[in-house]
Amino acid sequence: MKITKIRPILTAPDGIALVIVKVETDQPGLYGIGCATFTQRPTLVANAVAEYLDPLLTGRDPANIEDIWQVCKNNSYWRNGPVLNNAISGVDQALWDLKGKVAKMPVYDLLGGKSREAAMIYRHADGREPAEVLDNVHKYLDKGTLAVRLQMGGYGGRVKDITKGNAQPGKKSAQATHRMKAMDRLDTRFPGAYYNPDVYARSIPGLFDYVRNKIGFDVFLLHDIHERLAPIDAVRMAKELEPYRLFFLEDPFAPEDQEWFKLLRAASATPIAMGELFNHPLEWRNLVINQLIDFMRVHISQIGGITPARKLAALCESFGVRTAWHGPGDTSPVGHAANLHLDLSCHNFGIQEVINFSERIYDVFPGTPIIKDGYLWANEQPGLGIDIDETAAARYPIEFKPITWTQSRWPDGTLWTP
Ligand SMILES: [Mg+2]
Repeated sequence: MKITKIRPILTAPDGIALVIVKVETDQPGLYGIGCATFTQRPTLVANAVAEYLDPLLTGRDPANIEDIWQVCKNNSYWRNGPVLNNAISGVDQALWDLKGKVAKMPVYDLLGGKSREAAMIYRHADGREPAEVLDNVHKYLDKGTLAVRLQMGGYGGRVKDITKGNAQPGKKSAQATHRMKAMDRLDTRFPGAYYNPDVYARSIPGLFDYVRNKIGFDVFLLHDIHERLAPIDAVRMAKELEPYRLFFLEDPFAPEDQEWFKLLRAASATPIAMGELFNHPLEWRNLVINQLIDFMRVHISQIGGITPARKLAALCESFGVRTAWHGPGDTSPVGHAANLHLDLSCHNFGIQEVINFSERIYDVFPGTPIIKDGYLWANEQPGLGIDIDETAAARYPIEFKPITWTQSRWPDGTLWTP
């Protein structure tokens, strides 16, 4: 078998730009698909695939996934980074999908078979006030959800928030107005998404106290700091949240602030999750081998696909770190399927983040995993078990709009990592 064509497919069924890579072969009807979604810069990834990986790999034997991954990583000499890693992931996941189709086995079988029937998921509950967050928790519990991430008040309120004309629909009304007052006094001219780290840090322990008192301890609860605090304030929050027994506390620090993990570990037994921004083994190695985190959160397309992810999972297993692959709306359904095949096969699976898959998503991506009873379920189809209907995908062209949430600012206008 030979690779005859590698091409990107761009689509946005739910308004989020998704990048899919299709690897075609000289065998009629035999192809694979993979996720290469870097939603903030989708056309750069598409160009990397079409202009560089297609001519590099056309004519090669698609069976040699490991060699192709190494060739893709090293051929440009300068390596790593979100554009190239996502492009490589698109090819890599497609080759695993293809290998499964050739073997007539699901990818989880290629990876060693199932370690569990389905993957426990967590959902996101948000709100302006604790009572509103609790209402949203109950909506998920009513559907059988076992684990819920609690967030409140847009990290202390986003005032005048987002620059005029760029407001994110639905977010603005969800801000608590009394929290905005302090920031309204300053008329800063830097555009961005404003928040108040002090108000945010003080509000979260109270939220968990309120929710635990209402629902008890039989539901797993999580929280994502999203790097929004100064490091020492994140340490303090981890200590204050200890009594509420979080499943994990995510992204206490930016990847650039890794030295803080030692202090955090010494100060608190709250389980820690980290990694959605990681690109490269040097970013996770020390955290894993020094047992400074409990859950590995990498975004699988961002590190280059299933090939590096299964090695990372094995490293984590040796050090008692469990997986919690990143699974937001800007992971394509193909990427969610790749997450799930690893979740089912890796012994050290922890939990899986997932979104509501819309009708449009199931139309464009037949075979998208199913959510039922608090778990994500794979089908028994060979490969990743998912396909793309290119005619349906073409009905949802991508459209570039500069995003504002990645211009997070403190009340005086200081830009902070999002
Ligand atoms: Mg996160």
